[in-house]
Amino acid sequence: MSIVLDGAAASEGIVSGKVFLLHWGVPAVPHETVDPSIVDAEIERFHEARQWAKARIREVQEVTKQRLGQVEAQIFEPQLLMLDDPSVVDGTIRYIRENYLTAQRSFEWRMLELQAMWSRTSQPMVLDRLNDLEDLMIRVLHRLLGHHDPSDLAREPSSVIVVARNLTPSLTVHLDPEHVLGIATDLGTRTTHWAILARSLEIPAVVGLGSVTQHAHEEQEAILDGRVGRVILDPSESDRNAFRKRQARLKGWEGEIAVIAEQESVTLDGQPVALRANVDLPVEAEHARSHGAEGIGLFRTEFLVVGRSTMPREQEQYEAYRSVAEAFPEGAVYIRTFDLGGDKFPMFLHMPHEENPFLGWRAIRVCLDEPELFRTQLRAILRATAHGDVRIMVPLVNDVEEVRQVRALLEEEEEALRRDGIPFNSGYKLGVMIETPAAALDAAELARHCDFFSIGTNDLVQYTLAVDRTNTRLAKLYNPFHPSVVRLLHQVARVSRAAGIEVSLCGELAANPLGTFLLLGLDIHALSMAWPSLPEIKKVVRDIRIADARSAARKALAAPTSQDVVRCLLDGIGDSVDLTVFSGRWSLSLPR
Ligand code: PEP
Ligand code: MG
Repeated sequence: MSIVLDGAAASEGIVSGKVFLLHWGVPAVPHETVDPSIVDAEIERFHEARQWAKARIREVQEVTKQRLGQVEAQIFEPQLLMLDDPSVVDGTIRYIRENYLTAQRSFEWRMLELQAMWSRTSQPMVLDRLNDLEDLMIRVLHRLLGHHDPSDLAREPSSVIVVARNLTPSLTVHLDPEHVLGIATDLGTRTTHWAILARSLEIPAVVGLGSVTQHAHEEQEAILDGRVGRVILDPSESDRNAFRKRQARLKGWEGEIAVIAEQESVTLDGQPVALRANVDLPVEAEHARSHGAEGIGLFRTEFLVVGRSTMPREQEQYEAYRSVAEAFPEGAVYIRTFDLGGDKFPMFLHMPHEENPFLGWRAIRVCLDEPELFRTQLRAILRATAHGDVRIMVPLVNDVEEVRQVRALLEEEEEALRRDGIPFNSGYKLGVMIETPAAALDAAELARHCDFFSIGTNDLVQYTLAVDRTNTRLAKLYNPFHPSVVRLLHQVARVSRAAGIEVSLCGELAANPLGTFLLLGLDIHALSMAWPSLPEIKKVVRDIRIADARSAARKALAAPTSQDVVRCLLDGIGDSVDLTVFSGRWSLSLPR
């Protein structure tokens, strides 16, 4: 019997291979004391292990810088700071001096205390710090116990799917994409530091599976789909067939990517469709280009702040934005202002604990309350407008007042740039993401203050249906084909058309072929998606007729249930697109 586990898609790619259980864990430390006469030597031993760990982390940082870049290497800063943090160092020394415990036992106790303190909250920022703390414990304790360094993976078997409770950034950068086909973990979110690294290393990953380590055993066959966040253990013959078909199709496409990238993005009956890419890291801009993106529809800028101990400086931000703009000299680049809160918490902001972070201090609400953070970002983006068609996109806007405030801040920063003689393009566009039912229903008013809308269905679906997007237990209820969502999409498209502003969509719905068909039918002709999906979706666009999409969308708008919406779309799309290879959760679970 195959076991199907759904988690969160953290890094693209679909692979099959044998399970390799990775025990990246804290070693057992015996309870031992030392003679009071050697306390100073024991403290010295602790300092030696600490310095050794710092040197190792700096090496890992250097490797990361070489392999991935300066920005990614910053992920290790919090660990280095922690190793010098008085709460760690003084606390450990106190246990050695006062209780005569061994250095390893003292360090372990101090770290467990900190872990217990931090674990009382469920905030992702703190969870990330726990992950960093665990990484340090593993490293320092192995050193003090005289064990072999566990991050030395030279003996790791090849062609495996690594299954672990969780990973840490320093281990992830050691994983060799030549040997590791994929990563599946019980814990973690898309924005966990190591998941960001896995994406940069192009190792497919599914996180937050809950219990994959309990179900999996060494050498077991597994299929991992990092595109939809699914892992199948002991796959059945039909799972294997579906996998082979899908992989062959994707492989075939890989060969065709360069050709497809050059083709026009236009339906059979002549409707042009703008296809752009969503990126998290500047290095992805090149992939987006080679996959045929005509611009960047969503640049998530949170990578600049998540896991960082200090606020990113203007110059660093400017360089990151400029590099993406320069990758698309002829295309538009939509830079989204910081979408913090929800499931992304920078360390330096000291965000309060909230019961419902997705309904809390998030995105534009944070930025307007933190002018220093926001103004620095706005200045950096304004400076980047001098290097291309850079547009400013504001997330989670609920009403016009927020847009007014952003515009006022921009005007002040423009004035300051002029005063300083720093170039920027004053003709840039400012728009908002439509991510709440409030924004969708109030779109007519918002349209009077914006140059464009970009619909973020990942959030719009969660807020419309009151279904937490990160709750895997509710994955079946998280349905973008719900009639209420379809009606809101229609409303926003209609209003934008009437107001004469561009509307695009950058949620994951755009990367689903049925979603594409629906959106084109609703006259949303600009789509942005994770870059690996671009060739597939361009093929869908080229294989369908806008007239069919419109007529299916009309029927879908009158459909009473999600199932009926999907049926209308399936009937409309007919055989023009082979949907069996798109094993997205929605298309898998829906009737054919
Ligand atoms: C969305 O909400 O659809 C979106 C694209 O933004 P994010 O997934 O980053 O919240
Ligand atoms: Mg969003």
